[in-house]
Amino acid sequence: MTQWEPVIGLEVHVQLMTNSKLFSGASITYGAEANRQACAVSIALPGVLPVMNLEAAKLAVRFGLAIGAKVEKRSVFERKNYFYPDLPKGYQISQYKHPIVSGGNLKIETETGEKVIGITRAHLEEDAGKSVHENFQGMTGIDLNRAGTPLLEIVSEPDMRSAEEAVIYLKKLHALVRYFDVSDGNMQEGSFRCDANVSVRPKGSQEYGTRTELKNINSFRFVEKAIQLEIERQIDILEDGGVVVQETRLYDSEHNETRAMRSKEDAQDYRYFPDPDLPEMILDDEFIEEIRASLPEFPDHRKSRYEQEFSLSSFDSEKLLRDRDTADFFERVNEHSKSDPKTIANWINGELAALLNERNTAIADSPVDSDRFATLLDRIADKTLSGKMAKEVLVHLANDKSDVDAIIEKKGFKQITDGSEIERLVGGVLDANSSQVQQYREGNQKVFGFLMGQVMKAADGKADPKQVNQILRNLLE
Ligand code: ADP
Ligand code: MG
Repeated sequence: MTQWEPVIGLEVHVQLMTNSKLFSGASITYGAEANRQACAVSIALPGVLPVMNLEAAKLAVRFGLAIGAKVEKRSVFERKNYFYPDLPKGYQISQYKHPIVSGGNLKIETETGEKVIGITRAHLEEDAGKSVHENFQGMTGIDLNRAGTPLLEIVSEPDMRSAEEAVIYLKKLHALVRYFDVSDGNMQEGSFRCDANVSVRPKGSQEYGTRTELKNINSFRFVEKAIQLEIERQIDILEDGGVVVQETRLYDSEHNETRAMRSKEDAQDYRYFPDPDLPEMILDDEFIEEIRASLPEFPDHRKSRYEQEFSLSSFDSEKLLRDRDTADFFERVNEHSKSDPKTIANWINGELAALLNERNTAIADSPVDSDRFATLLDRIADKTLSGKMAKEVLVHLANDKSDVDAIIEKKGFKQITDGSEIERLVGGVLDANSSQVQQYREGNQKVFGFLMGQVMKAADGKADPKQVNQILRNLLE
């Protein structure tokens, strides 16, 4: 039996976070009324001239620096010619032979350890329009709002060896473009789209097999499913003695299958040539260095700093670095709170994350800001609150803008830490449960939990459990 090895390379289209189109000042606001943003330049009415959007160039450079790639000082816009209803001008402006970014990489954590995925290139290009099928009977509507939207196409080397690895890479890339403010990465709105190139070969073979390209898969889950299906389809063909045809396929999530869409076109079909309306793009060192200086601390660097400086686990650090706002929040809390970093990380990754998730809110808009959050954790550290109480106080904080101590006071959350008060409560419970006390003294350890529960109940849940435990033990001796 031949052992098959999948080979996967991804092409990801990332929408750049600009205000306007790649070659015009038209807005790119999502969800605008159809064709309201289809300016003369985006549809190439006769006589118009494209003008490069400087912000888009900056964002492409940011990305290049973020992945340790070479930022090309000279890049060239070319016309990629093809006919399609959503492209009335007959060509897409893209970069071809001379992309703005080349030769970077991304480290991913796989089950078998760290792996480096090569990024061949990233080039600037404009998006096409969109065909609209809803609300049209026997017709197709064309919305050209999206035409001319700035995209960065990020092309990986065929370095991935499983559908899972492809998704890990994709998630890392997604987090990275968001971290560096290159793109909002919104997948529902199409700001992060993936084409997957898939082939298989006998394990140990040096040559690549024939690949197919799966188009426009718009969720991490579907990427994994589509690639897995395609791997299995190709293996079946090869094991039956057939050959894989190089073609573009479409993933149908409803039927969980891939279908042939068109035979794969070659570069020559597009008759690329430098766009005569646009000069070459020349960047100088100063421009690039200014952008480099504006970059935030790199996520990988930040992660190892968290592990060393704060003794956090790789897992906790990774979680805090799921986006930059979360990491920033953590650092602000850590600066202002007396709690240790591990406790802070647990509370951010646990209770706060759950609260925000429930309310569908980003941490940047958290109803509990880092100052109040820090104070809340301090109240655990100074024993005003038990962990359990603090969880309840957190919910009150989310609904009430008052400061932490005011809420603790108002809602009567103060923990009982006064020893004599606790002794009094324990004494009461022991008196009322003399038969259990006797059982305990005869060696039935289990009764301890029961008595502990009775004391906490008598204290309305507010006694410091550690002290209750201690005092109960002493009085039972
Ligand atoms: P094209 O110009 O047709 O898009 P490229 O050479 O630019 O082709 O490659 C596009 C993508 O396909 C890249 O991500 C690359 O890693 C991937 N790729 C190339 N060959 C293979 C292969 N045999 N199997 C899987 N992926 C491949
Ligand atoms: Mg391609």
